[in-house]
Amino acid sequence: MTQSAVTDAPSSSSETSSTKRSSRRPSAPPGERHQFFRVIQGYLDDAAKLIEMPEYIRTILRQPKNEIIVNFPVQMDNGEYRLFKGYRIQHSNILGPYKGGMRYHENASLDDFKALGAMMTWKCALMDLPLGGAKGGIKFNPYQVSRAELQRITRRFFHSLGGNIGPDYDIPAPDMGTSGQTMAWAMDTYMNTVGMVSKQAVMGVVTGKPVTSGGTHGRVKATGQGVVHCIRFWADRNRFDLHGKKLIVQGFGNVGSHTAVLLSHMGVSTVGVGDHTGYLYNPEGFNVYRLQEYVAANGSIAGYPNGHAVTREEFFNIQADIFVPAALENQVDVAEANALNGIRLVAEGANGPCTVAGEKVLRDRGIEVLPDVLANAGGVTVSYYEWVQNRRSEQWTLEEVDTRLEGAMRDAYRRVEEFERVHNCGMRLACYGVALQRLQKVYEEREIFP
Ligand code: NAD
Repeated sequence: MTQSAVTDAPSSSSETSSTKRSSRRPSAPPGERHQFFRVIQGYLDDAAKLIEMPEYIRTILRQPKNEIIVNFPVQMDNGEYRLFKGYRIQHSNILGPYKGGMRYHENASLDDFKALGAMMTWKCALMDLPLGGAKGGIKFNPYQVSRAELQRITRRFFHSLGGNIGPDYDIPAPDMGTSGQTMAWAMDTYMNTVGMVSKQAVMGVVTGKPVTSGGTHGRVKATGQGVVHCIRFWADRNRFDLHGKKLIVQGFGNVGSHTAVLLSHMGVSTVGVGDHTGYLYNPEGFNVYRLQEYVAANGSIAGYPNGHAVTREEFFNIQADIFVPAALENQVDVAEANALNGIRLVAEGANGPCTVAGEKVLRDRGIEVLPDVLANAGGVTVSYYEWVQNRRSEQWTLEEVDTRLEGAMRDAYRRVEEFERVHNCGMRLACYGVALQRLQKVYEEREIFP
């Protein structure tokens, strides 16, 4: 391991006090004015045109098959009842059961889930998985409830979904604001609704479970691992030596922190991090292991002693080589894309982090983008491995999972490169093109019922 990549030299800045940090909130993200679902439909339209997809298939894929909304009451710790709104968007099951994460976030919306559900369909098709696409979650702030409340909210939500999910029908997984623990509660809730004799057979109703509760080795880091594989493939193709390079990462949860840790093994040092509480800069490089432990213990980077507090604007202007957005969608708009300083590559750990206008600026500036549907597909790929292990009552080793994932990411990367070369298009369009070609083939083979 490269020492420089995991240092955590105390900052020489005087701005390390938590008072100062909390007074420097990041400014508002570009956010709401971008309609995420429309953007995803636009990418679909462009790729459909490129591959000359028949109009009826494009029309089907432009909308999700099912849009499920449930309102359910939960008793809070103070004895009062609060009504929650939960969503499950089932976009497509033409390739296999619906598959996709559950997100808990205060700004979650139907529009976002429709976009994210569609992206899961493209992602599974691109990765050649026998799975469809879905996404869902609850609109609330999971950081503002107790653990006991979180458990009751989760159990009541999954109970409300009832037969709308199932191991051969729709298989949720963790996403932003949810974790292995959330999935353990979800699985247990579902198991208790199907009766004693079927209990063990439905373990695969969710993936991303803790290993001891039927999860797979390697799932926790899988999405970050997939991002890192893509960065490595890109670096090889571009003769870009990763050793000694600098990273900034927005979002230091599951995806962001594992990406930073795994890149540190290759000598990449993380000099800027941000999350929902603010942004930190350390020119010497953070000790990303220590920061990961700190976030696990404290819930955020707030109060971490070894870094200067910076504003959101300053974060985007930190001099670095690689930027991994690993938080929300619509974070890299024109201003952010123009602010990036020295960045050669944006690897989309998050779903939809770049706006259309932001990506155009990146392109004009010669900054390459590894698109979300490829870059963060390691998560659903290892979720698929977990589902297969549950069906077979097997437990694969970490080495086996890692080897399979690397092979799957490499194959998908090559398919995208080949499409890009043949069609002389950008990488995002190539990802959509590969995915849509597979979906088109299946529609043409099976045709439309009745
Ligand atoms: P997480 O909840 O573990 O972490 C999310 C991070 O984003 C946290 O650090 C949080 O503080 C930060 N964040 C939230 N709001 C923010 C804001 N307004 N500004 C800056 N930071 C903010 O979630 P995750 O699982 O790491 O997911 C992150 C992204 O990766 C999401 O877009 C998700 O859809 C995508 N993704 C996740 C997986 C997975 O397996 N978990 C797979 C594919 C894609």
